[in-house]
Amino acid sequence: MGIELSPPSNYQRLADAPPTIATLCSHSSLQIFHGARTEGFQSLGICQGPLPRFYEAFPLGRPDRFLSVDRYSDLPGRVDELNRANAILVPHGSFVEYIGPEKFQALPVPVFGNRAVIGWESDREKERVWLESAGVRMPERFVDPSEVDGPVIVKYYGAKGGKGFFLAKNRESLREFRATGPHVIQEYVLGTRYYVHFFYSPISQGGYRVGHGSLELLGMDRRDEANIDELYKLGAQEELLKAGIRPTFVVTGNVPVVLRESLLPQVFDVGARIVTRSIELFGGMVGPFCVEGIMTEELVFKVFEISSRIVAGTNLFISGSSYSDLVRPDLSMGRRIAQELKLARELGRLGEVVS
Ligand code: AMP
Repeated sequence: MGIELSPPSNYQRLADAPPTIATLCSHSSLQIFHGARTEGFQSLGICQGPLPRFYEAFPLGRPDRFLSVDRYSDLPGRVDELNRANAILVPHGSFVEYIGPEKFQALPVPVFGNRAVIGWESDREKERVWLESAGVRMPERFVDPSEVDGPVIVKYYGAKGGKGFFLAKNRESLREFRATGPHVIQEYVLGTRYYVHFFYSPISQGGYRVGHGSLELLGMDRRDEANIDELYKLGAQEELLKAGIRPTFVVTGNVPVVLRESLLPQVFDVGARIVTRSIELFGGMVGPFCVEGIMTEELVFKVFEISSRIVAGTNLFISGSSYSDLVRPDLSMGRRIAQELKLARELGRLGEVVS
């Protein structure tokens, strides 16, 4: 038997009556609702203001019901309605961002996965402690600008979409940086970015065993980031700067990628280390997570970030990816979440996947 998470007192209901899968109407909601429907669950979309029309265009990704709030931050005042619907909330990137990490963690509604992970992932310092103590390679970090010996990226804490990040090609150009808030100075890793979509099940048997469960690789993408991804057209960062444009990393979309097959053992090793350490530190991650890293020309995968929930890059693979096709047919991340809830209910082990 695995580790019991700390479920809210009302979660026993989920075992007694069929739960409803609920999430915010944004980000990766279409595949979450589609996955719920495919696995026989009812679904509920939480929206802000009028019911969003775009679902009418996607009948298979439309939730069965909606709960409309004036502002997403009002959700804590509507938890009774969620509990009456026997809801399990599925967190995605925008969900946690719109509600706020603290409010989200405190919601007295059952949540898929271990909500303790949010405290470790939303703080760049704690995240580094977690990953480094797991033995994962990360970009070097410079506490003092005088230590800088190559290109660096300066990142603000909690910066959304890389807004305001600063690139410097050496210690001299770093002097131009004027901080406007808490930030970290990191080695700028030269290489190719990969965003690796994992799913960790603490209850599923077989496959690639980690802890008491198994680790699945369901897809991979690369993010299109404006305006830095267009930089090659201008030749060099200086050209962009001469034009008075600061490089930014605001995500505008995603493209599918696959990794050289010989590099798969390395990314599985990284995923397994992150899960194993999470079990020791806070009872373990459950469900989707994304390892975001850069493969250098020496073929070393350096991890600059981890997202411990479903990422929007999985939207590429609603009918499967080159990897998930080899796990089960038609397997999206949204559907995988619904399958996990179904299995946990059947085994009487919801306490290991819901908190
Ligand atoms: P983050 O907020 O850490 O996810 O970073 C946003 C974007 O900045 C990433 O998607 C990368 O394109 C880029 N980036 C972040 N850290 C590094 C790094 N150490 N070296 C090179 N690029 C980075």
